[in-house]
Amino acid sequence: MQSNSRKIRSLVTGGAGFIGSHLCERLIERGNEVVCVDNYYTGAKANIAHLLDNAYFELIRHDVTFPLYIEVDEIYNLACPASPVHYQRDPVQTTKTNVHGAINILGLAKRLKVRVLQASTSEVYGDPTIHPQTEDYQGNVNPIGPRACYDEGKRCAETLFFDYHRQHGLPIKVARIFNTYGPRMMPDDGRVVSNFIVQALRGEPITIYGDGKQTRSFCYIDDLVDGLIRLMESPPAETGPVNLGNPVETEIGTLAERIVGLVGADAAMEYRDLPTDDPLQRCPDITRARRLLDWQPKVPLDEGLAKTVDYFRGVV
Ligand code: NAD
Ligand code: UDP
Repeated sequence: MQSNSRKIRSLVTGGAGFIGSHLCERLIERGNEVVCVDNYYTGAKANIAHLLDNAYFELIRHDVTFPLYIEVDEIYNLACPASPVHYQRDPVQTTKTNVHGAINILGLAKRLKVRVLQASTSEVYGDPTIHPQTEDYQGNVNPIGPRACYDEGKRCAETLFFDYHRQHGLPIKVARIFNTYGPRMMPDDGRVVSNFIVQALRGEPITIYGDGKQTRSFCYIDDLVDGLIRLMESPPAETGPVNLGNPVETEIGTLAERIVGLVGADAAMEYRDLPTDDPLQRCPDITRARRLLDWQPKVPLDEGLAKTVDYFRGVV
């Protein structure tokens, strides 16, 4: 808890989403005042319902593609659908959220002269040709494919963050987040961890796209939130980008087996076509996060999955 009477007021855009809701909760616990901004595109009031009675929590329905006038001390910019299913549903809106949203939030930060953190993504590396991915790898992204609205939108947002930093001296922080999972993912979110858990709990076939040999590296939500706050609180010279993710790589087929084992289900595996431009390998090199933030994930995959399964037992 902070000892000073004047609380730090944090703005969290996308605060009613999966990561945002956990971040709002943790910031309140730490003694910050939190303003949560969301248009509920993929988030839900239910995710932050338990914070609504807190005098230091405020909720504003707002779309970040429109300017926002508000007084805060720091900004976490998380607003953007993260699941391929959702960000491809209205790709033009996804690009607008990433690019117009970044311009509006950077403009706000510039007026207030406050630090601003961008929730960027491992998707800026596209289908990577180096492995694991370091922050100086410039990526392999298809600019005209179905994932481009998200990947290129996030890349352009990074460009804007660094140009505001160079041109206006704005204190920025760019986190490249790798696949994160945990309670409060939406059951219909479409991402692999929530899909597999919900399918296993319902006794439905587990939908594996491709041969299941593609890899991802899964970070539990509590570890990710810890990394975001450490990055925000790092010295001003540390702009990032910083990879935040768990460097333990898992094949999607193996993930399916582990989830089925945890749920105790007798589920069949159903193989479907691999979506266009689906990256084959993804694993963060977190040397920079270890060095700059003294951060590394602590929650092993089985422990995090067990907590996530417990959560979904209560909602499906
Ligand atoms: P999410 O979809 O659960 O949350 C995103 C939130 O942003 C939702 O509450 C949604 O309603 C809100 N939002 C979307 N468009 C908006 C707009 N125009 N104006 C205001 N609010 C808007 O996703 P998440 O997993 O919580 O991801 C949060 C952020 O982290 C995103 O920027 C995402 O790109 C990034 N990220 C997440 C992951 C991951 O694995 N979860 C990985 C890399 C990056
Ligand atoms: N995936 C899968 N079955 C599903 C959902 C996803 O096999 O029901 C695969 C998907 O093709 C990808 C991986 O799991 O290879 C991670 O997908 P997700 O949408 O969670 O995240 P991203 O592709 O953005 O990393």
